[in-house]
Amino acid sequence: MSASGGVSTSPERAEKFSFHTFQIFSKNQMQWKGKPLSDDEINKFREEISKRSMKGMMIHASYLLNMATPKPDLKVKVLDAFQDEIRRADALNMPFLTFHPGSASDTTEKEALKNIADNLNTLITSGQKCTILMETSAGQGKTVGHTFEQLAEILDFIDQKDKMGICFDTCHVWAAGYDIKTTEGYGETMDRFRTSLGLDRLKGFHLNDSKKGVNSRVDRHEQIGDGTLGTDGISNFINDRRLRGKPMILETPLGEEGYARDIANLSRIFSGE
Ligand SMILES: [Zn+2]
Repeated sequence: MSASGGVSTSPERAEKFSFHTFQIFSKNQMQWKGKPLSDDEINKFREEISKRSMKGMMIHASYLLNMATPKPDLKVKVLDAFQDEIRRADALNMPFLTFHPGSASDTTEKEALKNIADNLNTLITSGQKCTILMETSAGQGKTVGHTFEQLAEILDFIDQKDKMGICFDTCHVWAAGYDIKTTEGYGETMDRFRTSLGLDRLKGFHLNDSKKGVNSRVDRHEQIGDGTLGTDGISNFINDRRLRGKPMILETPLGEEGYARDIANLSRIFSGE
């Protein structure tokens, strides 16, 4: 949901679509520093949430944060900005803070995974309320986190694992090369997820169709049913009983203009069992 006019406007916007959950940026996603949230705005947001039966909401961290960076000066900036994201999530009582693991730039994949974990270990405190979710990536360029095993390796290094989870983006996982479209491929993919990470680590979804094909390694979201994953692929997720109760969030390109049709397509393929 857009947070224009202040984050406290987002719960009402989400309610208009009958959403039970939503995701926002808590500041401009392309800027390092956001304006601090005023106490007034924080209280209003909390109030708007408490009026509704919503849960599993996410804050999406800024796209600029590369937690895998090996550059010391950039690392200082990244840690500072990420700490601010955690502070904002906790102030707003948001259960989840989701981020893209990052890009290996001029290091090896192994080093990148270790850098991400080291940075998370620096940031995570026992007093932190929100759970930080690593998002499955499409594997575009040198980005890491496009295999479940890579995400498991990062988690392995984390000291306070109870503060961490996974956000599964259906477009990204498809683009990263997992067949989640056929019934058989979906079953195998979820088995692989269970073996390497475990279903209880899976805290939520970004439910998106994809413009590009399986294994394209390109991160381009599409409206539900209009992409290469199609309603067959999306149906696997929304009709999997094991996933009931986990938040599923639309990040389709038309945004609020397209949600009504996305919801209509989802309702059509939801078996309701
Ligand atoms: Zn996503």
